[in-house]
This record gives sequence, structure tokens and C-alpha cells, in this order.
Amino acid sequence: MRATSEVISPGFSFSKWTRDIHPRRNLSVPNKGEKRKRLYRQRRAAGQCTQAGCSAKPEVGRCKCQKHLQDMAKRALKDRKERIANGVCSYCGTRPQFWGRKCILCRQMYTSNPLPIGARRALREYRNAEAQHSFAQIQNKTRAVAIKLLAGRKVVGEQARALRLYVGVDDGKWRTYSEIAAQMKVSKEWVRKLLLPSKITLASMVEGKLPWPAYERKIGYRVGNESR
Ligand SMILES: [Zn+2]
Ligand SMILES: [Zn+2]
Repeated sequence: MRATSEVISPGFSFSKWTRDIHPRRNLSVPNKGEKRKRLYRQRRAAGQCTQAGCSAKPEVGRCKCQKHLQDMAKRALKDRKERIANGVCSYCGTRPQFWGRKCILCRQMYTSNPLPIGARRALREYRNAEAQHSFAQIQNKTRAVAIKLLAGRKVVGEQARALRLYVGVDDGKWRTYSEIAAQMKVSKEWVRKLLLPSKITLASMVEGKLPWPAYERKIGYRVGNESR
């Protein structure tokens, strides 16, 4: 057979030519899926089980007879088991699983929160750990400055004793005003007064955040309400 380009003239359209000599091609020939859908609708309208070739009546409110419903359920269960074994979404069978049996997209159809409980818990624990870690770093930094202050004898006497206990120079444990008051056998208010000058000095020396609430940095402003 000669190549098409040898026989065709300029302006020749192969598709037009086929249309002219094969008029049936103009009719839209339904593909397999469309045929199946049409058959389904016909059987449904006629009140038959929609399984091709089945003459039984469908179950009430269903589109198939009991036997074919059971077949369908068995097939669905088999598909599900295979998908789970292959590690893909049990619903769509295409995308990978996400924190469970379904993929990230199919999961949305069954839940209100896009993130599963396990993921949310993991995130929360991670954030808590981060916060604890950074607070511990702030405490360590402030303790180091306090130790310098004590070594340079910038704070002495009862004030120094209170500060040593407060930042935990000896055991690395920060103490509350109540704990210091109990150890020094003084009132909580007296502990606050003893610590106030040291805390103001520390606030001016420590860069960034402090391990106690920020309002204490404003001298004389509600300092009596602190708990630490
Ligand atoms: Zn049937
Ligand atoms: Zn899916």
C-alpha cells in the first residue's frame, strides 16, 4: 500500500474521508462502560436484579437479589483484605494509607478533623516537649547569670541565701517563694522583698526571656501577686 501522502491532495482531510465513506462512524457508539450503565438502568426500571442474566427479584430497597448482594459483599471484603495487605487505602485502593486504613483524601469523608487523634497527640506531645526544653534552657541561662552575680559578691547575706535557693545553685532545682520561706523560716512576703533586687538585676543582665512572668520586670508593678 502506498503512503497516504502520495495520493492525497492539498486540503485532504483523512477524518472527513472516513466520515464520508463510513457514515456509521458518525453515530456515537457507546463504549463498554456506557453499555453496562444502560443495561443497569433498564434492569432497574424493569424491577429486576441488576446482575446481568439474573431473573430473580431484587431485595426490598436494594438493586440486587439476595444471592448477588452476598456475592458483592464477599467481593468487597476480599478487595478490602487485599488492599490492607498491600498497604493501600481500603476505600479507593490507589493511594497509600494515612494513620489507619484509609488514604488522606478518603479519610475526609468519614471524619470532621483532617488530622487523626494519634497525629494530633504526637504533635501536642512534641510541642509540649519543645516548650519544656526551651523553658529549661531559659532557667539554666538565668541560673548561670545568678551564679556569676553571687560569685562577684554583688548579692550578699540573706538576699544571697534566698537567691541561691531560688535558682537552685546547689541542686539545680528552682524553688517557689513558699519553699524558700519554709527553708529560711521567714514569710513569703519577706522572700519576695529579699529576691526583688536580685531579680531586677538579673532581668537587666539576662538576654531574652526570663523564667518568671514578664510583669515583674516593671518595677513596683503588681510584684506582690507573683507566685514564684
Ligand atoms: Zn441476582
Ligand atoms: Zn483512598
